[in-house]
Amino acid sequence: MPLNEYRKKRDFKISPEPSGEKAAPKVPKSSSIYVIQKHRASQLHYDFRLEFRGTLLSWAIPKGPSLDPSVKRLAMQVEDHPVEYASFEGVIPEGEYGGGTVMVWDQGTWTPESPDVEAALEKGDLKFTLHGKKLKGSWVLVRTRGYGSSSKTSWLLIKHRDNFASADIDVAEEMPRSAVSNRLLAEIARDAGGDVEKAATGDPEIKAPAKTAAKAIKVPNTSRSTSSKSAGRPSATKKSSARGPKRRKTSS
Ligand code: MN
Repeated sequence: MPLNEYRKKRDFKISPEPSGEKAAPKVPKSSSIYVIQKHRASQLHYDFRLEFRGTLLSWAIPKGPSLDPSVKRLAMQVEDHPVEYASFEGVIPEGEYGGGTVMVWDQGTWTPESPDVEAALEKGDLKFTLHGKKLKGSWVLVRTRGYGSSSKTSWLLIKHRDNFASADIDVAEEMPRSAVSNRLLAEIARDAGGDVEKAATGDPEIKAPAKTAAKAIKVPNTSRSTSSKSAGRPSATKKSSARGPKRRKTSS
């Protein structure tokens, strides 16, 4: 699919995002790019991208991936992105489309398990294996019934049961740093002159009302306090629902 929609939404004189004008490499490749970009735009989301036929098929996942096969994560299909986008990490200026901080949260390659990818996409049932730094093993994207205008674009990302599945690890919470620079969103924003405070709300630091407290706590609380129950996160259940208001809306 051409990148018209992608380009129409963006002003490349203002945004540092790639325009996709450069021709995609024509060298036949045995592997295709897989990338997830964590994007603190108007709403935090994870952009899941699979290289296919010269572009990146793209889905915005509000809650990010889950390693738990019983958890289905909503994935809204968005416009195809140019292949060069896979390495984009930085800040899209506020006021521009998707304004906010972008992190390369995971990267690697993917292999289709469905023999005919085109047909699988058409059918709305794409099985594949990820070879990322964080996400590995077998997954599926299934189209689901959405509402109104989203009826054709709502999918679910689900982990298949295999050695890489886990009901205990909240991968988005526990592995919050960039796969390429090891930075948090706030650090990427700081380095690129973006909105650090906004970016930080996508990082797993404690969102304490007092700013001094937020600064002091760098690492998600791993130490156990013997004196106070409220000092630590609940450790038995690592679902992130305890943390702040739920983000349901999707945006790119
Ligand atoms: Mn996005």
